[in-house]
Amino acid sequence: EAKRRGRNRAVAYRPAFDATLSRRLQLIHQLRDALERDEFELAFQPQVAADGEIAALEALVRWRHPARGLLLPAEFIAVCEDSGLIVELGRRILRDAVWCQRRLAAAGFGHIRIAVNVSAAQFTDDLYDDVAQALHGRPLADGGLDLELTERVIMDSPAHAIELMQRLAGLGVSFSIDDFGTGYSSLAYLKRFPIQRLKIDRSFVQDLGQDASDAAICQSIISLARALDLHTVAEGVETEQQRDWLRERGCEELQGYLWGKPQPFETLLPALQHGRWGARPHA
Ligand code: C2E
Ligand code: MG
Ligand code: MG
Ligand code: MG
Repeated sequence: EAKRRGRNRAVAYRPAFDATLSRRLQLIHQLRDALERDEFELAFQPQVAADGEIAALEALVRWRHPARGLLLPAEFIAVCEDSGLIVELGRRILRDAVWCQRRLAAAGFGHIRIAVNVSAAQFTDDLYDDVAQALHGRPLADGGLDLELTERVIMDSPAHAIELMQRLAGLGVSFSIDDFGTGYSSLAYLKRFPIQRLKIDRSFVQDLGQDASDAAICQSIISLARALDLHTVAEGVETEQQRDWLRERGCEELQGYLWGKPQPFETLLPALQHGRWGARPHA
């Protein structure tokens, strides 16, 4: 009976499944072409320190689709991840990120980190080689390259993660835990990871000031980080109220639309050079 029901159900869902599958295959095909044609680019969003200075720029990938315009990661990253294309895409992102950090350094902004998101599928021993290759034997300023990893990525196999992160740290890489608070980190392990920062997930920042439990969560992440000698970066800061709340409680760095949407390096660098960044009203 269960089997027959199961079969019926399978039949009922088949057309939808086929449509999804064929869309997916088509997308994989397009993504391969896009890699070949170099249609991916990076947008950067500042992580702003308490004094208003930029501490880091997070690299966020976009796909300049020939017909559909500029596409956000939500449209393609998941398919890149489960098709394995993320490995090649990730290599290019690392190479571009290193190049941008070198240009920052050449312009006198070498203290600004470039932060790069790393997916689970990239977080293998090959990542070491990819970073080493991107650096091309010329190290950046210590911590000049920051890798953002989620709790899920590092907790999957913590012992292996620690070892890989330690080797990467030998290349001068620093680490942030992205979307912190949404995963299931073991606090015992957290202490053992060679990490520098916890990034408070946007979902907790969003309702600061309205939602008492979100405030409590943000406060505990900041306290936890302090106890572990880590810094906190809050994501998704959109209002002055959120900014002030977080700064008052000692959150070291803030990131969000309050300082603008992610933008191309080619517009950010001149803004930095001409001091226009510091002149912003929201700093
Ligand atoms: P994430 O690493 O947590 O990045 C933060 C996301 O929040 C970015 O979305 C950013 O544009 C957005 N954001 C920043 N400030 C605000 C704000 O004030 N309000 C709101 N509502 N959103 C804000 P984006 O660029 O669409 O990226 C989404 C996710 O895609 C990233 O989340 C990251 O997980 C992934 N991703 C982006 N770039 C890369 C990449 O180069 N490689 C990999 N593996 N994943 C990437
Ligand atoms: Mg991130
Ligand atoms: Mg995040
Ligand atoms: Mg996220």
